[in-house]
Amino acid sequence: MKPANTSYRTKFIFITGGVLSSLGKGLAAASIGALLESRGLTVTFQKLDPYINVDPGTMNPFQHGEVYVTDDGAECDLDMGHYERYTNAVMAQKNNYTSGRIYYSVITKERRGEYLGGTVQVIPHITDEIKNAILQMDGSVDFAIIEIGGTIGDIESLPFLEAIRQFRFDRGRQNTLFIHVTLVPYIKTAGEVKTKPTQHSVKELRAIGIQPDILLCRTEKNLTSELKAKIALFCNVPTDAVITARDVKSIYEVPVHFHREGLDDKILELLNVWTGAPRIEPWEELMHRIQHPAHRVTIGIIGKYVELTESYKSLHEALVHGGLANDARVDLRYVSAEDLEARDDVGELLAGCQGILVPGGFGERGVRGKIKAISFAREQKIPFFGICLGMQLAVVEFARSIAGMNDANSTEFDLTTGHPVIYLMKEWFDYRTGQIQVRDEKSDKGGTLRLGSYPCQLAPSTLALAAYQQEEIFERHRHRYEFNPEFRQALTDKGLIISGTSPDNTLAEIVELADHPWFLGCQFHPEFKSKPMKPHPLFREFVRAALQHAGSS
Ligand code: GLN
Repeated sequence: MKPANTSYRTKFIFITGGVLSSLGKGLAAASIGALLESRGLTVTFQKLDPYINVDPGTMNPFQHGEVYVTDDGAECDLDMGHYERYTNAVMAQKNNYTSGRIYYSVITKERRGEYLGGTVQVIPHITDEIKNAILQMDGSVDFAIIEIGGTIGDIESLPFLEAIRQFRFDRGRQNTLFIHVTLVPYIKTAGEVKTKPTQHSVKELRAIGIQPDILLCRTEKNLTSELKAKIALFCNVPTDAVITARDVKSIYEVPVHFHREGLDDKILELLNVWTGAPRIEPWEELMHRIQHPAHRVTIGIIGKYVELTESYKSLHEALVHGGLANDARVDLRYVSAEDLEARDDVGELLAGCQGILVPGGFGERGVRGKIKAISFAREQKIPFFGICLGMQLAVVEFARSIAGMNDANSTEFDLTTGHPVIYLMKEWFDYRTGQIQVRDEKSDKGGTLRLGSYPCQLAPSTLALAAYQQEEIFERHRHRYEFNPEFRQALTDKGLIISGTSPDNTLAEIVELADHPWFLGCQFHPEFKSKPMKPHPLFREFVRAALQHAGSS
């Protein structure tokens, strides 16, 4: 091992996962980030995903969960959402790499002749490309937390593991740390927790040259000191580096639990970093508020992926945050849009929902059911929040029911409609890139979305302005279709309020209804910017309206 170089600013923490997936590596990474920030240190993150897709933009949410969107328009893994929710770190394209993206770049270089006729191999070419990706995190922060997707033992993740093994060799022990998240299952029939899977997983890691420094053991029960000692002995780590990561009710309890287990102290000790005492109180206070809400409210989410809440991760969290801002627990009821479509008793399916939310989505499945739910919310004066597709369908519903445009539709679903109130702009000015974008219905699916952060100007005396309390806001987009300006006059004449527009007033970004307690649809995805410590204004106000509705009904 080379001598430790103390001149580097950034220390790298690598997080791997063992035994099985879904152990909450992303949340562990985010929580570690939160704990380091609570000591005044700066952090950033990177997620390295072993799959071959270049990004998850085109992946089915059923399989992969939500596609998270950053300010700079990256379509990325949902763990990036956890990182941003728990810390001040701002995620971007460079914070998420897949094997596909790494290989793509190496192959592109090879085609350009950059390897000068050499044989291009996994080691060193792919591993160097991975290390260069990781090194983009170098220098600007105190800690870079790098999460390796997948599970130890997968063939796909080997190049990433080899790259981080080399990384420690390059940078030395004082600058790198390996944390392994593993499972210590409780076996009912034996009445005890078992350490064997952890032993095997660590053995596997060591076989490829990585000795973990800290083990985060996911478990139902607290690990006794005897058990920790046993794991320590078999896995070759100090006993105080075996950390219990107990199942908790709310994901926002994790930083506090980790802190109580001494995780942040251990990390700093191993990396030889001295800091002041952590300010853990805000997380303790948050935990208290989550555990003791004064109110309760039920929100109905009308969706396509109702079976899999991972598909609506950020949305789910933003609603929890909206509840926190109102001292309320938010119970989410996922209602299948297709069930609504098939049945006449919309009221029965939505009974007990004090607020109705139609989230973003692609494709025609369930659209009629979503429109039914919107009619119901509008007529029954139940607080309504439409996001992206939800906003577009609110416009369609209004055009059909109030403005007499019976065949109104989005051209995503009907190309021949006489009233294309939502349409595909063939040419539009992309503020972020400063370029005119051109496309039509036949364009590629990739690269034709409006993606990332865009400014929006809010109109006076609107729900939107009342929520945000500022005239210019920035929100993240991920959609192809837009409100058609040709119908703006006709619809506003009938009472539709356009409360947010692009700064040049061409794109309608937020719509509202007067004569309704709270009815708002936005073209962007506000859920990506909500944090437990800083609930998003629209979610805060939506939940408040739902609570008022609960109180009045
Ligand atoms: N399918 C719609 C569009 O492409 C809405 C997308 C979304 O809800 N994210 O514009």
